[in-house]
Amino acid sequence: MYTCSNGDRVQEDQTRIVTREETFPVKGEPITILASVRVCDKCGEDVYDRELDSASLLKAYDVYRSIHGLIGPTDIKAMREKYALTQRGLSNLLGMGEITIHRYESGSIPDEVHNQLLIMVQSPGNMKRILKTRGDVLSASQRKKIGERVDQLIREECPDKIIELASASVSYKGPDIYTGYLPFQPEKLMDMIAFFASDKDGVYKTKMNKLLWYTDFLHYRYYGVSVSGTSYVHLPYGPVADQYALFLNHLLREERINVREVFFANGSGEILVTVQPDDQAFSASEMEVLKAVHEHFRAMTSKDISSLSHEEEGYLETKEGQAISYNYADKLKVDLTHLMPSLHTTL
Ligand SMILES: [Zn+2]
Repeated sequence: MYTCSNGDRVQEDQTRIVTREETFPVKGEPITILASVRVCDKCGEDVYDRELDSASLLKAYDVYRSIHGLIGPTDIKAMREKYALTQRGLSNLLGMGEITIHRYESGSIPDEVHNQLLIMVQSPGNMKRILKTRGDVLSASQRKKIGERVDQLIREECPDKIIELASASVSYKGPDIYTGYLPFQPEKLMDMIAFFASDKDGVYKTKMNKLLWYTDFLHYRYYGVSVSGTSYVHLPYGPVADQYALFLNHLLREERINVREVFFANGSGEILVTVQPDDQAFSASEMEVLKAVHEHFRAMTSKDISSLSHEEEGYLETKEGQAISYNYADKLKVDLTHLMPSLHTTL
């Protein structure tokens, strides 16, 4: 049942909805919008309809916000979700009343100072500064969680910086005995990772580093230089490419490779997969070594290849955290000459 402004009591089917221009005062400013209005069939006067009227008012607010460049509910909500902050968390962090953000997300017009602040903290770099100065209004665990989230967003915004950062962090940039007499080439290392991950079954995360190590070391043994100029560090699980995690993360973020989780009776493992390795990235001899390493170790479990690498002299003779000299390449127990036809034609 509805009541029109003439006082008629009418059923819904005695009314209709019309579209017409309506003007609402928003913060003292007249804002004109196209509004849907319910009118009485009997007398033609407006009928009060709570739902339609509040929708029109929100529409007027939207127009006002866009005229004045004010941040709106969707943007505030998206930002909050980006930082994994609650409405109350964001309010507290910005020194606003506890329900202020809730009001803004429900459509209220933000005041000017709040608006500036909200626009500013959309950028993770600014959010990081706010966290530094006002982070103590959050619980310690929340602060830590959001801090990590913000750092991740900053890294995502400038992926090139990651490679720069990772490349700057490697201990040996070569060319020397720790890089296989090549300057370190991060792109080449990442191409190698993509190559092994392109196996139709993918490759276990734990197996990847051994494949990289054998590839670089065997190429050095046969041709006097490594493939990627990567230096490998003695870690408890075996030899690992220096700053491996950073380069892997970069590949994952760029979606050049993906992680698939697999489950067994007694746990789970992560498999790296990719669909499009860049085969053009490698010379003929590099490709031959990559393929030989791939074939030789294909059927071997992560555990087997791990224990194998532990028996290699280059691993046995170095301590945890030490770089492994390419001098040990000649001592490798693994020999793949039978899988490399071109070595036989040149020898
Ligand atoms: Zn009427």
